[in-house]
Amino acid sequence: MHYTHEHLEIQKTLRRFIDEEINPHVDEWEAAEAFPAHEVFRKLGQLGLLGLNKPEEYGGAGLDYSYAMALAEALGHVDCGGIPMAVGVQTDMCTPALARFGSDELRREFLAPAIAGETVGCIGVSEPGAGSDVAGLKSYAKKDGDDYLITGQKMWITNSLQADWMCMLVNTGDGPAHRNKSLVIVPMDSPGIEKAKKIRKIGMHSSDTGLIYFDNVRVPQRNRIGEEGQGFVYQMQQFQEERLWCAASSLEPMDTCIAQTIEWAQQRRMFGATLADQQWVQFKLAELKTEVEALRALTYRACDLHVQGEDVTQLASMAKLKTGRLTREVSDTCLQFWGGMGFTWENRVSRLFRDGRLGSIGGGADEVMLGILAKTMGIAKRPPRE
Ligand SMILES: Cc1cc2nc3c(=O)[nH]c(=O)nc-3n(C[C@H](O)[C@H](O)[C@H](O)COP(=O)(O)OP(=O)(O)OC[C@H]3O[C@@H](n4cnc5c(N)ncnc54)[C@H](O)[C@@H]3O)c2cc1C
Repeated sequence: MHYTHEHLEIQKTLRRFIDEEINPHVDEWEAAEAFPAHEVFRKLGQLGLLGLNKPEEYGGAGLDYSYAMALAEALGHVDCGGIPMAVGVQTDMCTPALARFGSDELRREFLAPAIAGETVGCIGVSEPGAGSDVAGLKSYAKKDGDDYLITGQKMWITNSLQADWMCMLVNTGDGPAHRNKSLVIVPMDSPGIEKAKKIRKIGMHSSDTGLIYFDNVRVPQRNRIGEEGQGFVYQMQQFQEERLWCAASSLEPMDTCIAQTIEWAQQRRMFGATLADQQWVQFKLAELKTEVEALRALTYRACDLHVQGEDVTQLASMAKLKTGRLTREVSDTCLQFWGGMGFTWENRVSRLFRDGRLGSIGGGADEVMLGILAKTMGIAKRPPRE
């Protein structure tokens, strides 16, 4: 993938916005365990950054996916993981299926305001009893006239306490687990929705994560995205963009972590020299930087093929797997070189250590990625559960 002048200009616009409007508030929002999503999204929408690869008729820029990747990469400029994740949910997790398969009416009602930054969306897949095992989710929608009545629970939902709507994966039939689900857009002010709990976490503090109950929530059937029963398939496709987003947005935080550690090591004196004079430290940091560049190359290649319309399930899963593992290795190794200072709360390196830990769990755990790879490589012959 080659970034053109346009890609770089978009990144410059976003980085300037982050320097002026986000980074000065990050410590405050991290401490508050929330950030003002509506305010930030409205400004991002005014800059035209929330719909780069979305159709122009709904306010998007109609560009190809490489521009969304460039945006995801520049989001890594934020001084924490929570705010980029919240933006990524809006651009690459709760809107791709809506943009691709939603009816014109549904896209006017929900996609256009999301691109404009007037509304905040969330993606509701995981449940208390079904995270890795997406097919095993239990929430269900019963038909009642032209409506669905939705009952169930969604857990770990990013943005959900502030969101105006949820793109919800829900059982709409009794058939086989991969063919009985639909994606339905659920307005979050519907009667019967209870925002039951804000979940406290070890990292990603500025991002709100909720447990949401649904008790006979009435939603028109026209809020269903695409065909009934195709929700699992649509969500698996939507996951590809989520996983590429995770990889792209992890690169700058790792680069920054390594750069700050080099700076620290060069001024930290010990044993009559600096920490950076230790060959072990030099080699370790050089090796980590090499790994980050390898991940960048893998991510760009996956993005290139995605833009060409190829199925990148395997490459996106590899990139997501490598992202989780490498973020842990980079942040842990660097934290060690900072000594006691690395163990302090405000240190950016310790923040990456906490925020980055999610990379191996959220959006499909490492083992789920390995399972996909084993299947796509033809190693695992186990038939899918139906
Ligand atoms: C901060 C945060 C934000 C999130 N945001 C959202 C969101 O916006 N929307 C949403 O729908 N979900 C969201 N999630 C949920 C996330 O996607 C799930 O946590 C994740 O899919 C794992 O599911 P689980 O937590 O139920 O763990 P489980 O499914 O119980 O898995 C536990 C562990 O089992 C292991 N494991 C899993 N499968 C296998 C296997 N095949 N072989 C061997 N070991 C295995 C893995 O190590 C895994 O970590 C979020 C989670 C967090 C923590």
